[in-house]
Amino acid sequence: MNIVSIECPNCGGRIDRDKNEYFANCPFCGTEVCFDEIKGEAQYGQIDELKDRVEAFEKRERFDEEGRSRIRKWIKWRNISYVAISGATFLGFFFVGLGSGSHPENDIFIGIGAVIFILMMTLFFACPPALAAHYPDYDLINGKVNFADRLAMYVKIAATSIGIGVISAFAAYIVLKSMGRA
Ligand SMILES: [Zn+2]
Repeated sequence: MNIVSIECPNCGGRIDRDKNEYFANCPFCGTEVCFDEIKGEAQYGQIDELKDRVEAFEKRERFDEEGRSRIRKWIKWRNISYVAISGATFLGFFFVGLGSGSHPENDIFIGIGAVIFILMMTLFFACPPALAAHYPDYDLINGKVNFADRLAMYVKIAATSIGIGVISAFAAYIVLKSMGRA
């Protein structure tokens, strides 16, 4: 038999073919892989069973790939939400800080800051539940996502959002301070 090794589609690790196995699990991440020579090497009599296994394997591969792409999309939206929360918090505090002087012309900054504050609060309340609700149904590692998973996801995202908000508000304070306005 030929010694064949392939690259794991999930982690890139090297997977060596063992004996005349057609399938193997990646020693690094456990992903099941299929050695492509299977189609050429399959013996007469084994072919039907192997064909079914290859088909099932390919179906699951597609399913996993769809899952990965949905998770990537979800992560993109989660990151956009964090950036929006961070930006709105920074600008809200920045403008209110800028406006909190004794000069009447500063009132415009208070107004801008107040509008951004409303946007910020909307993001704080809307993003974590929306993201938790839209987390892909099928988690590649943990399987089916249930209500408790979503609740945990919500708590995690809400806590991260608050952390990001605190850091952004502090960053606004530092900037104002450096401008001599805080
Ligand atoms: Zn792997």
